Amino acid sequence: MANITPPRYVKQVLITLQSRGFLAYLVGGCVRDMILGVHPQDWDVCTSALPDEVRGLFPHTAPTGIRHGTVTVLIHSHSVEVTTFRSDGSYADHRHPEAVSFVGDLTSDLARRDFTMNAIALPPDGLIADPFGGVEDIEKGIIRCVGEPERRYEEDALRMFRALRFSARLGFALEEKTLSAIYSKAPLAASLSAERVRDEIEKMLLTSRPQILLTAIEAGLLDRYLIRRKDDPCSELIRITAMPKKALPRWAALCAILERRGWIDSAHDFLTALRLDGRTVRCCSECCELLHTSPPRTTKEWKKLLNRYGVDTASCAAQCYDALIGGRSRDALRAVLKSGECFSVRHLAVTGDDLVELGLRGKELGEMLNFLLDYVMDYPENNRRELLLQLVRGTEEN
Ligand code: ATP
Ligand code: MG
Repeated sequence: MANITPPRYVKQVLITLQSRGFLAYLVGGCVRDMILGVHPQDWDVCTSALPDEVRGLFPHTAPTGIRHGTVTVLIHSHSVEVTTFRSDGSYADHRHPEAVSFVGDLTSDLARRDFTMNAIALPPDGLIADPFGGVEDIEKGIIRCVGEPERRYEEDALRMFRALRFSARLGFALEEKTLSAIYSKAPLAASLSAERVRDEIEKMLLTSRPQILLTAIEAGLLDRYLIRRKDDPCSELIRITAMPKKALPRWAALCAILERRGWIDSAHDFLTALRLDGRTVRCCSECCELLHTSPPRTTKEWKKLLNRYGVDTASCAAQCYDALIGGRSRDALRAVLKSGECFSVRHLAVTGDDLVELGLRGKELGEMLNFLLDYVMDYPENNRRELLLQLVRGTEEN
């Protein structure tokens, strides 16, 4: 932690609060990351000041989560989330506390947080506050719920996903009860919105250990989205690590594995239920369809695939072929794309208008364009306007 210090604008927020007599601490992910020696992505502050008091202290603020006591302070073109110490009331729906109450002390605020490693507070000067032994757990590489895991998951079922996600991201082990309670409380995950589940799955997919999803599946966290369990997909999920760390190809690989094993009917249904965007749904569905066949063997086959499915799906499919069945499809596709050779009527050296001038119309015109495309895919060096026009005239005369 010694060599990571918060940036000046963060210190300014802490000191402004402190100078007005309020308690103010860095808290949550940023403290955990500092202890781990990782630069935090964002900086969260907790304070004894009430939201209106925070708004009164800084000229530029946004009431981003005011109901939960969060005010975003905009400072020197950065933003810092400042949250009033709070404790959460009862949770009726395993998702949201019915009411939050602002409290005066830090320990109650830390007690409502999910894991010990996320329940550490650091004042601008002075001693770290760590009532649940978070520092020791970080040092040991352990994720442990603050309090009794079953009860904490009952309050908020998303914590089960968060536990697995942090474990995958940090390479930490889950403390025994923190893990076993995921198995016993997994049915509560059905109450979470598809969007939140989707975001958690995507975050897990983008870690270096996407195979953590096996634990999520085994525990039953994804039961609402899976149809049956013929086989164990375990040995295969690890193959996702061979995919680029990008959402689209990793979703595609996940779908391909689950589909192959009969855990989902189709990528389309699975991803639509999880509210993925249209491009991802289309691309992953096409990719799964392609994976039912063997990879293209020739340059021309790749061009045909590119013509039919476009670059997004072709790239995804090439990555999946390599990761899931082996081979060098990515290299082959890269070579085709780099060559700049024509694989679509849009790249032909003649246009539909040229053919209209030569008297072609409707179906005939379409067929001619396809004929020219097929020809140019075989003879890329002949994708020249005069030559193609000559070819059209010749074909017409015959
Ligand atoms: P990341 O680096 O992924 O942002 P983070 O720990 O900062 O990790 P956030 O989702 O930004 O995670 O949440 C900030 C803090 O708020 C957490 O560290 C934790 O203390 C608390 N927190 C967030 N979500 C929950 C939750 N569902 N239950 C309890 N505490 C939570
Ligand atoms: Mg965060």
